[in-house]
Amino acid sequence: MRSILIIFLLLSTYAFSAKVIEQRWQKGETFSEYLADKGIPQSILEKVDEGDSQFFNEIHAGQKFYELVDEQGNILQTLIAINSEMQIQLYRDPKSKEFEFDIIPIEFDTKEYFGKVQVTSILYNDIVEQLGHKMLAARVSYALKKAFNARNFKVGDEVAFYYSQDTRMGTFYGAPHIKSIMIKNRGKEKFISIDEETGRGYDGIHMLEPYTVTSKQKVHYTIGGGKFALPLKYIRITSPFSLRRWHPVLKRYRPHHGVDFGAKRGTPIMAIGDGRVIYAGWMRGYGNVVKIDHGAGVVSLYAHQSKIKAKKGAFVKSGEVIGYVGNTGISSGPHLHLGIYKNRKPVNPMNMISRDSKGKSVLKSIVKYEDVEEVFYKKVLIPNAKENKAKLLEMLKSKESSYVWKDMQEPPKKEDAGNS
Ligand SMILES: [Zn+2]
Repeated sequence: MRSILIIFLLLSTYAFSAKVIEQRWQKGETFSEYLADKGIPQSILEKVDEGDSQFFNEIHAGQKFYELVDEQGNILQTLIAINSEMQIQLYRDPKSKEFEFDIIPIEFDTKEYFGKVQVTSILYNDIVEQLGHKMLAARVSYALKKAFNARNFKVGDEVAFYYSQDTRMGTFYGAPHIKSIMIKNRGKEKFISIDEETGRGYDGIHMLEPYTVTSKQKVHYTIGGGKFALPLKYIRITSPFSLRRWHPVLKRYRPHHGVDFGAKRGTPIMAIGDGRVIYAGWMRGYGNVVKIDHGAGVVSLYAHQSKIKAKKGAFVKSGEVIGYVGNTGISSGPHLHLGIYKNRKPVNPMNMISRDSKGKSVLKSIVKYEDVEEVFYKKVLIPNAKENKAKLLEMLKSKESSYVWKDMQEPPKKEDAGNS
């Protein structure tokens, strides 16, 4: 239970009598309802500045979070992740007994491991049985999908790999990252390099990277697959996306789940893609907001508008004006805050917007659409492929896997968490 003690370091005076409970956020539950339910005074909301309250809107139904409770079941601390790196912390000050609010980094351990399995049937099953880690089995199988024909495996073959795994609160935190794989197939060794960005494996240390060539007719209108259009005619980024931004003045973390574009008040804001308006109204911290569902789990959010034009429930087209730039909510001057969420997780909008998209061209009504894009492939070196292979070669000197995950299959039991 060492990891739990590290997480709850702030409350070390409690740690021995308290226990950690894993919870799931209830459907439709608001932050203030949660406080009421747990007997935490609503006055804590006065300590939350409005800019931070925007994160309350992003807690979703079914989301896992953690509570530290004393023997009587009173809340001592609550930790709710707002992205992969930061979390909301509510805690009762041991001295004053007052509840405090903060946004703090998520602590997790990252360790590197060596895995080695004997092939007896299907590789996936062999990894699950020999190493006790289903996600690891899935990731290794995925990495090998295109790089090695599984039908060529023979009983007695060996598969060894080097990977990293994050752990938090005594259990897995996210999926493992496979770095390099060695297959000993019918006595012959073969090395597979992994592109860590996609998790795909390649025979050798190179991969084919697609790139597009667009001809002169730049009327770009595709959506989905990272091809969204710009939300303003002219863009000037005043504040970039960040999961973990240190605010030098406030001396604390303040993640930024979007990109800020500086623009004059009243500048038309355009939908970045076709979709359905799922929200049009006021949101604490964000002021006047429009949210558009683009399908495939992608939602865009346009904040601080002076005036909203789009109607909830309406379908909008890419480039359609949905509102106007303003300064509502927590904002130091007129700007558009654009947030993009993929499966409810904030992602960097600049990675979702097509480089070819020009606000100007999307504003025009497009009479005829012609696909003028061509995809080519070039051979590139997989990042860290050589280093990872060298590390795997070093690890291969040991005969056994460095860790078997049998005790990590389930989250810590409620009764014994926190007691050590
Ligand atoms: Zn912003």
